[in-house]
Order: sequence, then structure tokens, then C-alpha cells
Amino acid sequence: MPEGHSVHRIAAQFRRHFVGKRVAVTSPQGRFGDCVQLDGHTVTEAYAVGKHLFVVFDSGDALHVHLGIYGAWDFAGDVALDDTAASAGGRMGQTAGRGTVVGAHEESLASIGAPRRTRLRMGESDSDRDDSAEFPPEPVGQVRVRILASDAVADLRGPTVCEVLTPNGVERVQHELGPDPLVDKSGEQRFVDRCRATGTPIGRALMNQKIVAGIGNVYRAEMLFRARLSPFAVTKSLPEETLRELWRDWVKLLKIGVTTGQMLTMDGMSAGQKRAALANRDDRHWVYRRAGDPCRVCETPIVMEMMESRKLYFCPQCQGVST
Ligand SMILES: [Zn+2]
Repeated sequence: MPEGHSVHRIAAQFRRHFVGKRVAVTSPQGRFGDCVQLDGHTVTEAYAVGKHLFVVFDSGDALHVHLGIYGAWDFAGDVALDDTAASAGGRMGQTAGRGTVVGAHEESLASIGAPRRTRLRMGESDSDRDDSAEFPPEPVGQVRVRILASDAVADLRGPTVCEVLTPNGVERVQHELGPDPLVDKSGEQRFVDRCRATGTPIGRALMNQKIVAGIGNVYRAEMLFRARLSPFAVTKSLPEETLRELWRDWVKLLKIGVTTGQMLTMDGMSAGQKRAALANRDDRHWVYRRAGDPCRVCETPIVMEMMESRKLYFCPQCQGVST
């Protein structure tokens, strides 16, 4: 599932190419009839809070999107793509399994950073399209919503949430969300307060979007290892300073994620190690998806356990978990 950094990058892509432009908003797939409320309006703002994207229009209404596990945006036209987005053919969000969004899991993130063609994803009709395709391209597959400006187009597929919200509706959604470091200046205190108000294990709290917005399975595992914290430690019992340090680490990792497009969680890498980490997910993480492999610090095999039906990875030795 795309974590917070991806959604901030998608918002930036909208700011770059759609804000200030009048757009046509359609639902090629036909399952988002409400899109007519946005059609013909000008995009005034785009931003993310955690994993939620808000694209605001001059009517005051906003498009609210949560990608969930399978959702992705495809950008095409006269759009700037950095290496990460280009390597995924203009796709942002769930970038695995080109041409299909079914059956894609976070396990498929391995394909991020792999060399790919740099043109728009064409999916099934790949073979009969060429790189000089006309603009705008025909929507391919199940496009829930298409946002079309004169020179850029964004297609959304497979989201969990795609709806039109009034300003009140936007406020309601955001009120439910925990702090996002890139949005909330006072986020640290809110995070600490919300943690201390619950008796949940920290491994669960970090995934609770009401406590902190934007952290998913990869960042959760990596942050807890970096802090040498047991995922099972109960938030209430943790020293306040430990919680503050966790928040500050999230701020730092999120910024790296937004900049690079990748969930780099290892510090102090040489230039060569960094290149390897960018190219290959196996070289990128402390514990995530490394079950059975030796801990990079103490060589104890990394353990995987299910927590709320999500895979949780940790080093029992470094993180002080008795197994
Ligand atoms: Zn270890």
C-alpha cells in the first residue's frame, strides 16, 4: 500500500501540472457519477494529509482520494517525471504489476526502481500503441476518474475512496486523522498526546491513522527497529522522550521519502550502498521483508509475526522482544 510519502508526491504532481488550470473531470469507467460536480472547474489547490489526497476546485468542493492497496494514478502529457515516477511509466501509487492492479501487494514493491520504459503505461493494448501516441491518450482499463487539462492528464484506477467533498466534508475527514508532519506544525505534541491516551502496542499505534497519519507497514517496521523498540511495548508505558524521538524520526524519513520517492530507512550509507538501496529493495531496509535473514546489527534472524493481519518484522535481540 502506498505510504504517506507517495501521496505527498502525488499532491506535488497535481500542484505542478493542474493547479490554476480549468479541467475536464470524467469517469471513463462510469462508476463515479459525482465527478460532474467538478467538471469544467479550475483546480486551486492539491495537498495530502497522511494517505489522503485532496484536490480542491474553485467551486470550493474537493476530490478526496485514498488509494488503498490497489489504487494508482497515471500521469501523461506534458508532465515532469522524476526518476522514480519515470521508472514506473508515469504511475504513482501502487506501481507494481504494470497493466494490472489486481493481486498487487506491498510485496510487489520490489519492482520499484527496476528499469522500465519511460512512457505512459498502456496496459493491455501495449503492442498496438507507440511512443508518439496522441494526446490525450484513450483511457485504458477501469479508470475511475480522469482529470484532463490542456496539456496534462491524470487517470485514477482502483482507489478505495474517490468522492467529492464540500469544505465541511473535507474538515470532517481531516478531523479524524492524526497529525502529518508535513501539514501539522504542532504534530509532535498531538502525536505524543494521542499515544499516551491509548494503551495499545506501539506497533499498532503507528499504523493507526488517527494517531499518526501516513505511516504504513514498511515505515512502521523500520522506525521501530531504528528506535530499538519492541513493537509490543504499550504506548502508555513509553517515556515521553521516546515518543518524541519516534515522531522526529518519522519527520526525517518522510522527507527523505518525499524527496527520493523511495522508503530509504538506513542511515550512514556510502554512495555505493545508496545506489544499491535505490536500485534494490533488498538492500534498503533493516528488517522489513527480511524474515529469517540475519539482523544487520546483531545477526539474530529477523522475525515476522502477524499483527492485525499485517506482517510485522523485527529483530528480537535488538528490539528486546522475548520469543
Ligand atoms: Zn539485531
